[in-house]
Amino acid sequence: MQKFKISTEVCFGKGALSALETINAENAVIFTDAFLKKSGTADKIAGFMKNCAHISVYSDIKPDPPVELIANALDFLLKANADVVVALGGGSSIDAAKSTVLIARKQTGKDLPLIAVPTTSGTGSEVTSFAVITDKDAGVKYPLVSDDLLPVKAILAGELVASVPPQITADTGFDVLTHALEAYISLQANDFSDALAEKSLEIAFEYLPEAYKHGDNELAREKMHTASCLAGMSFNAVSLGVNHGIAHSLGAHFHIPHGRANGMLLPYVMWYNAGLDGKVDERTAVKLAKIAKLIGLPAFNSKAGAQNLVNKLKQMQRELGIPLTLKDAGVDKQSYESVKAHIIKSALNDACTATNPRKLKAHDIDVILSNIAKF
Ligand code: NAD
Repeated sequence: MQKFKISTEVCFGKGALSALETINAENAVIFTDAFLKKSGTADKIAGFMKNCAHISVYSDIKPDPPVELIANALDFLLKANADVVVALGGGSSIDAAKSTVLIARKQTGKDLPLIAVPTTSGTGSEVTSFAVITDKDAGVKYPLVSDDLLPVKAILAGELVASVPPQITADTGFDVLTHALEAYISLQANDFSDALAEKSLEIAFEYLPEAYKHGDNELAREKMHTASCLAGMSFNAVSLGVNHGIAHSLGAHFHIPHGRANGMLLPYVMWYNAGLDGKVDERTAVKLAKIAKLIGLPAFNSKAGAQNLVNKLKQMQRELGIPLTLKDAGVDKQSYESVKAHIIKSALNDACTATNPRKLKAHDIDVILSNIAKF
């Protein structure tokens, strides 16, 4: 038996931020990063929280939240005697809030509801049972997995994403494409997760280039916010694949933003999973060809369709300025060679790799990496 459940309430569309008015709390804490505090976004959010007696803001979240940050954030939460937490920001702020709230609930015995307000369109963290924490010394990103990490409410307000610069729009947009495509070909994929992934891909292929080129296009921003959330719902149900397995390790070693690492690998992981390097894997190739057709690419057979989708991803990488090689991403050959074996080992052990459709050994990861390991 399989099960499908979406437990987070999603508020979206014009006026979505008014959902914040329904929060009743004595002590509310907003978790965010320095940029969103300085830009006035945290104050804007606090302005909607009219039924909270006290609101404090924790704004020390850093990209790819490190393990040590969680202890600091927990201390803040306990001192504030919080009874509700609003996570405002990209995946880093939301994941840090999720992890901290989980520990705080255990320590205090309080319910401590978490409400997520994403300001990037990428991770889908507002609807997932995952939180990714980084151990920089070990060069590893740990995905924590628990239904207790799920926010009770997600508020999708496209207007909050308008300030995201083009490069971060590209990185996070490629994160959406990677989530939806990996979920779509995951070993656990089912009709429910496929429906969400297909819609996410249809929207993202249409609106990501526009959101990148014209960040003030409200429709494109709103659509990408929806695509990100749909992809999150999809992979939350059926997990991901080796693209994430490798990206987690690359990101932890070389501080390449998560979506960018995913985007650099995506065409090659899809090429490899469809067996376009040799014997075609019909299940995956048929699915990728279906997506090719959905977005208007020719697909007279599964192999041609899958190849056309791979080519489309490569074209979008160039159009959106995704680095094509590790050198372009700022990594030098010597540093790469010194940790390559560790990257391969971590990718094989990463929880996301377990649902990759093609079974992999170290050599296979090496083949995928060789497409970007050019110096
Ligand atoms: P991020 O949260 O690290 O933010 C990237 C940068 O964008 C930051 O400098 C931030 O200040 C800035 N930013 C955020 N919103 C902005 C706005 N509206 N305007 C201008 N700048 C803005 O990036 P992300 O890609 O959203 O999150 C990445 C993290 O999420 C990684 O740690 C990744 O591993 C994790 N992740 C989690 C899940 C999950 O399900 N929990 C899924 C995928 C990725």
